[in-house]
Amino acid sequence: MKKGLLERLQEGVVQGAEGYVFELERRGYIKGGPYVPEVVLDFPDAVKELHREFLRAGSDVMVALTYYAHREKLKDVGREHDLERMNRQAVRLANEVAHEGNALVAGNICNTWAYDPDNAKETTKIVRAMYEEQLGWAVEEGIDFVISETNDYLGEALIALEVIKSSGLPAMVTLASVQPHTTRDGYDYVEACKRLADAGADIVGMNCDRGPATMLPIIENIRAAVSCYVAAQPVPYKTDAASPTFESLHTSDGYQAFQLALEPFLCNRFEMASFARKAKEMGINYIGICCGGAPHYVRAMAEALGKTVPASKYSPAMELHPMLGTHVENKDKEFLDVWKG
Ligand SMILES: [Zn+2]
Repeated sequence: MKKGLLERLQEGVVQGAEGYVFELERRGYIKGGPYVPEVVLDFPDAVKELHREFLRAGSDVMVALTYYAHREKLKDVGREHDLERMNRQAVRLANEVAHEGNALVAGNICNTWAYDPDNAKETTKIVRAMYEEQLGWAVEEGIDFVISETNDYLGEALIALEVIKSSGLPAMVTLASVQPHTTRDGYDYVEACKRLADAGADIVGMNCDRGPATMLPIIENIRAAVSCYVAAQPVPYKTDAASPTFESLHTSDGYQAFQLALEPFLCNRFEMASFARKAKEMGINYIGICCGGAPHYVRAMAEALGKTVPASKYSPAMELHPMLGTHVENKDKEFLDVWKG
């Protein structure tokens, strides 16, 4: 029997890896814009391959690719009739690859774009029904816990939490952070996490939108405010005080870089390794990566967390490089630490 999520968290950091939709769009399997994971049905091997790459790189969790696989979004691409098949298949694919290692399988629900705090009573019903049907299928297919993520509204996150808890599985609920300080329904991010913890979430925290530099300061405050486990899954982009989210980054000629022209802002693997180390020192329990994530980041983060993973067999040995090898001692110490383990 593999250890469950809570048991693993008690023993140390659990590493996550996400960004499936972004990466599969880059690989030509998902349409940018709607970002619906049609790939789950159309090219299941592509999904399994990415799961496998994240598994080899050190992710402890295979997240079922059901992000945006909900009624509202499937309508946008005319595939509403594929809703159940897509959800079930996504969980099966995650399970197949999880069994190749010792990974957990997470069911996944997300922001629906259907919730409206000004019409909370009616829209709560719609959102709840969407979550119930998605998680109903996921539980039948077999999952270890549920990630509710990229929550713009505390109200919507609380609905997700309630539905997850009724399944009896551990709940990880993380917030989006497009706005400077508060959720879209006006709760300071720290306060919102406190309320989710009080409502019984096992893990609270943040995912997406912010790079390490602008997510860590908020995460530090969340860590200080709650006693439950805390998650941080930033995007691997160089956000800063002037552009705290990847939505607010602009190219040198003034265009919004989000979502298709973000490459100039990518962090390198050492910066993501450094994030993982800092998050661990801060007492963060679930450390991962969101949109923009790719296997080389996941491996660098795993090694920074002290792990040797299957893909470590091919980790860089730059001292053997014909040109760089002789100069490697002059490199920045942090680079050396990562290269040499
Ligand atoms: Zn993301």
